Amino acid sequence: MSIVRWGLGLSLFLFASVAQARPSASQSLHDEMSVEVPMTPLSTLHYFGGKVIPHAEVVIVLWGSKVSSTVTGNMPSFFQTVTGSAYLDWLGEYDTDGVSAYDGKGSSNQHVYRGSYKSSVAITPTSSSTTVQDATIQSELAAKIGSSVLPTPTIDSEGGVDTVYFVFFPAGTTVYDDQGGASCSSWCGYHGTFSMTVNNQTASVPYAVIPDMATCSCGGSTTLAEYTITSSHELAEAITDAEVGVTYGVGRPLAFYDTNYGEIGDICENTQGYTDTIGGYTVQKNWSQRLGKCIAQDSSLPLCGSQRPCRACAASDCTTSTSPICDSQDGTCRACQSDAECNGKHCDTTGACVDAPPPPPSTDGGTTPPKGDGGSGTKPTSDSGASSSSPDDDGGSGDTNNGDWNKSGGCSQSPDLPSAPPWALALPIAFAFARRRRR
Ligand SMILES: [Zn+2]
Repeated sequence: MSIVRWGLGLSLFLFASVAQARPSASQSLHDEMSVEVPMTPLSTLHYFGGKVIPHAEVVIVLWGSKVSSTVTGNMPSFFQTVTGSAYLDWLGEYDTDGVSAYDGKGSSNQHVYRGSYKSSVAITPTSSSTTVQDATIQSELAAKIGSSVLPTPTIDSEGGVDTVYFVFFPAGTTVYDDQGGASCSSWCGYHGTFSMTVNNQTASVPYAVIPDMATCSCGGSTTLAEYTITSSHELAEAITDAEVGVTYGVGRPLAFYDTNYGEIGDICENTQGYTDTIGGYTVQKNWSQRLGKCIAQDSSLPLCGSQRPCRACAASDCTTSTSPICDSQDGTCRACQSDAECNGKHCDTTGACVDAPPPPPSTDGGTTPPKGDGGSGTKPTSDSGASSSSPDDDGGSGDTNNGDWNKSGGCSQSPDLPSAPPWALALPIAFAFARRRRR
């Protein structure tokens, strides 16, 4: 792969790419072409009011039966690892709850948590052509969702779509984005959005496109690393700019977008030392507006509780009697809610997991009440103490204003936030595809 061949593509992407990972060649070229990102929060990174992805739920879509075994053998584990890791914890700084949008209108009022890997599905595309247009990918995804070949997008309690479809292509297939740019020559990957009706409401469904990497040069020292670098870039950007595909302008419903550099992955791409390792996988760093630098993880985050962004709990973190459960949704230690959460023990009225079940109600006045043989000291108490330990799924709901974002990001001077707009009404009612945003 010659450097000359990539030079033009690189320079074009520096200024024209929004949602794409641009191709890159040797490390020396990376250095030469490095974007000089100031190591302070960018005054040009704004929150434009669109949705983020709270609990990214990755579905791998294999375009036909011949996608590389590098993908089928590794990417499920990669997504499972990364979505449940520190790679997503610090993206909580891109919560939109309490953040004023750049236009002064409503926020999507969401939080960014860890996610999950859902499944991998090989589809049989309607067309077997080796050239595939972006519009075809959107219609194929919608059709396969409609016929239940692919899982239906999950809409969470904050009203956003969690499911993101990562579409992988076989060797020999060239994908063209909506401006005619070809995979591996104009870009290494991109993410977009299409609109479809889910549960009787119009939803912005995010997806990402990853071509076969064996013949691409996308910054990794191995083919797997090229997949994981590109996929991590697109995942982080889809999470923080989920609706990029339903607008062409710089404005709503973009979420976090920098008017000079693009999305949070673009800001860091090809900068010095722009990759890191998460669970053994090479990933791309992304821009932290909070820290003013590119990071993949932040070991200084506090355990999730009252502060965000935060480190999601592990079971071993949740050891107090009143908060014995690690909530997989928001990463906080909380009270138990049912016996099923207590690993064979009983969830008492204080939200503690205790050794013995409560004494069964007496049905025979002549029978001696059962003696607790393991319950001494753990008897159910009255509800007088419950106020300090009641379950709280919302975690830090009372402290969700991301003040740091507004201060450092300079997005708005106004602390007064209008309530969230009815997003569904702002989008087309009928099933419709929207093209990926380009500038
Ligand atoms: Zn990007």
